[in-house]
Amino acid sequence: MATGKILLITGVSSGFGRALAQEALRAGHTVVGTVRSEAAMRDFTSLSETHAFARVLDVTDFDAIDGVVAEIEANIGPIDVLVNNAGYGHEGILEESPLSEMRRQFDVNVFGAVAMIKAVLPFMRARRRGHILNITSMGGHITMPGITYYCGSKFALEGISESLGKEVAPLGISVTAVAPGSFRTDWAGRSMARTPRSIADYDASFDPVRRAREEKNGKQLGDPVKAARAMLTAIDSAHPPAHLLLGSDALKLVREHLTALEYEFSQWEPVTVSTDG
Ligand code: NAP
Repeated sequence: MATGKILLITGVSSGFGRALAQEALRAGHTVVGTVRSEAAMRDFTSLSETHAFARVLDVTDFDAIDGVVAEIEANIGPIDVLVNNAGYGHEGILEESPLSEMRRQFDVNVFGAVAMIKAVLPFMRARRRGHILNITSMGGHITMPGITYYCGSKFALEGISESLGKEVAPLGISVTAVAPGSFRTDWAGRSMARTPRSIADYDASFDPVRRAREEKNGKQLGDPVKAARAMLTAIDSAHPPAHLLLGSDALKLVREHLTALEYEFSQWEPVTVSTDG
């Protein structure tokens, strides 16, 4: 039987999704996790006979999403919290990376998340309660060369989260965009899609960036279990934030970006305001 809150988390096979599921189970919540194979399903449900449920779902299987969510509502119970965690990083220079790779990046990181949100909202709206967490990234606030499609997808999800939050707040539903810095998950390892190099003009600027990311994999500053606890703090809050950064690296880089943005706006202020009237 479901106790605590019911969390629906996409992508619980590893990383943040897995850590959040485990910490939520430890806190007495019920977790329904999405996975992409029968083996991952068995592995996840072995975490708790009574409180861990799994459903096979690729978030780009858009036509299946409404049915999966309705079945969970009917058979497990009311979804209190949706965590759109499933996602991956595309790494590649924009000019070298085919549009099909951008489409795939947005299908998973943006359209998949929005499809999940559209499926849970009718239930949350009817109950006048619910919390949606979208795992974005510090790359949804700042940008880095070589992950342009990824940053684009995370900026999109940040914007969608913030705007959606304003639409559903009057209906008792909260939306939090969670933006982690660098964490020790499978993100920069098995999950990353790396476009092969093809244009020599980018060798000098990009090759060191790619090498550094590969070398840093597994040694990142952030601990996903601590991220999970931070997310549970937001989930437990009566007034969850619209934006939550995770990690001192994210805080430093986003603050520097805001300062640089304000400086540039000020430098160009006379030109900016010259268009009024
Ligand atoms: P991860 O360990 O690679 O986990 C990614 C999860 O997403 C896996 O469970 C994976 O399932 C699932 N997934 C990927 N594509 C999917 C799809 N099409 N449909 C359903 N599930 C899918 O990496 P992670 O870092 O925990 O990633 C979770 C989220 O955090 C992502 O949105 C990522 O962009 C974000 N993030 C990560 C970092 C970081 O430093 N780690 C920083 C900022 C943001 P499979 O096992 O089946 O592949």
